[in-house]
Amino acid sequence: WPILAQVSYLCLFAFIPLGPSHWKDITASCGGENQSPINIDRRKTQRDKNLDEILFEGYDQAPPGRWRLLNDGHTGGGQRCSAWPLCPPPPALPFKFRALQFHFHWGDLDRNGSEHMVDGRQYPMEMHLVHVNTKYKTTNEAKGHPNGLAVLSFLFKVSETDNTNYNTIIAGLKNISRAGSNDYVDLASTFSLRNLLPSMASLSKYYRYKGSLTTPSCEEVVVWTVFEEEVPISKQQVRREQQICNLPQRPLKMANNFRPPQPLNRRKVYASRDATLSCSSSLASHLLLPLLWAFLVGHFSGPS
Ligand SMILES: [Zn+2]
Repeated sequence: WPILAQVSYLCLFAFIPLGPSHWKDITASCGGENQSPINIDRRKTQRDKNLDEILFEGYDQAPPGRWRLLNDGHTGGGQRCSAWPLCPPPPALPFKFRALQFHFHWGDLDRNGSEHMVDGRQYPMEMHLVHVNTKYKTTNEAKGHPNGLAVLSFLFKVSETDNTNYNTIIAGLKNISRAGSNDYVDLASTFSLRNLLPSMASLSKYYRYKGSLTTPSCEEVVVWTVFEEEVPISKQQVRREQQICNLPQRPLKMANNFRPPQPLNRRKVYASRDATLSCSSSLASHLLLPLLWAFLVGHFSGPS
C-alpha cells in the first residue's frame, strides 16, 4: 500500500451545497461547543510545562512505497492507509497516534486560507497531518471517542523562493487536476513526512487544545496541536496548490476550502513549555514593573 497523501476536502466544500455556517443544520455536531478551527489568542493561552517535545517516530523515513495523492473530494473517505508512521508523544499526548493522511487548506489569489488564526491573523495556507489513536482499530471507531484523533497543524508563510521539499507534491497536483475527480496519482518520487515540516528544533513550540474535525460531521474528537514555526512556501507554489480542482468536466476554481474560526467557549488553549506567549502581554508586564517601582519609590521618598 502506498502511503496516502490525501488532497481531500477541497472538493468536499464544493459539493456541500450550503456554506460552513449552515453545516449545523445538516449535522448537529457542527454546532457544538468544542468546534475547530479557532483563533489562538496568545494573551489568553495558558502555559503547560508538561507540553514538551513531541516524539516523531518514522517521520524521517521515506515510506516503503510511493505516496499516493488522492483527490477524494466528495467521497470523504481516507482509511486506505498503512500503519505508518507512528507518533508516540508521552507525556503531552498520553496515547500513540498513527499518521493517516495529510491535506491542505488554502484561500485564493487575494485571500489567505488557513483555518487556524493566531492573534487574529490568518495565514496563506495550513497543512493538517491527521493521526488516529492506535487504541482504536478503525478511523470510524476512533471518531466515537474524545481522544480518537490527533491533528498536527502547520501554518505557512510566503517566501521569496520555492520550498523545494514541496516540489514532488506540487508536481503531482498538476496531474491529479488533469485526472479528474475521485482519482489519484502516485508521486514520482518518495519523501519523508519530516521533509514537509519546519526545523525539528522548532517543533517543541506549539499550542494545544481540544476540538473537532473542520468538515462535517465535525466530530469533537480531535486533540489539536498548532505549531508556532511557519513553513515557508513561495507565492507561485501556493497558486499551483489552488489550481488542483480545475476539473475539465466540472470547471470549478477550487479555493477557499477553509472553515472560519469557531467560538472557544469554555475551552482553554495551552502553550507548550517553549512556545511564545503574546509579545504584547509580556511587554506590558515588563513595562508595568519598572513603572510601578518608580511610582513606589516616588511615593515613599516623598516629603517626610
Ligand atoms: Zn483539515
